[in-house]
Amino acid sequence: MSGAESGPEPVVEVADVDFGFGERPVLADVSLTVDPGAFLGLVGPNGSGKTTLVELLLGLRRPDTGTVTLFGEPAHEFDDGERVGYVAQHATAAAGRMPVTVREAVAMGRYPHRLVGRFSAADRRAIDDALDRVDVADLADRRVGNLSGGQRQRVFIARALAAEADLLVLDEPTVGVDAESRERFYDLLHELNDEGLTIVLIEHDIGVVTTHASEIACLNRELYFHGDPETFVETNALADAYGTNQAPVHHGH
Ligand code: ADP
Repeated sequence: MSGAESGPEPVVEVADVDFGFGERPVLADVSLTVDPGAFLGLVGPNGSGKTTLVELLLGLRRPDTGTVTLFGEPAHEFDDGERVGYVAQHATAAAGRMPVTVREAVAMGRYPHRLVGRFSAADRRAIDDALDRVDVADLADRRVGNLSGGQRQRVFIARALAAEADLLVLDEPTVGVDAESRERFYDLLHELNDEGLTIVLIEHDIGVVTTHASEIACLNRELYFHGDPETFVETNALADAYGTNQAPVHHGH
């Protein structure tokens, strides 16, 4: 590749990936590139392999065939963990049992940056800034377990911001979050994305994700579509991926 033609290094590059759990094929021949600054919404029916794909791109699983790179390195060897913020599915429920305050939870994101195991003034500033940024500074001394689902999501984002993550991966982050909190949550994601944070998000609500994401990838074992949301809603990719008898609900936002 010549320097003039090659774009910026992809954040994630999934190439020709097959993956199965034992005999059960889950992903077949999936190739997908996530460029810096993308806001990618990953959609597909239940059991279509979305979480598995996310786990592959984070290096938590290895493909049977094909390759997955994260910031140019094989994903399973990637060890610069603070560059990636991951909010797993049901993370908010698990957080309900976390016996830590909001400030402590966000400070955890800063651990990899500490020198000699102690927080510097710069670390404390990064933690305060992250709390401010997602509007949870007034909750800093509250226990994470006593917060609403929407507030907890913000705490997880703040932790990724304190870590200075370049990629934020969210698996159905707004399940169980009320509509107003969900809108505020997406507003925050837009702001962070505008500032350069790359976002990959699994979202089951097609109306919401096509409104907010700048690209859509539609999966059902194979990748049915990857492109902009306008084209996605115009094509048959959705019906094809979901099976025509099982069309998903359109919310028409
Ligand atoms: P989605 O996130 O789209 O709902 P998943 O990636 O969670 O889909 O699951 C894809 C398929 O893999 C499903 O059929 C699911 O039952 C299966 N699966 C997921 N995790 C495991 C596992 N740890 N062991 C065996 N099968 C699994």
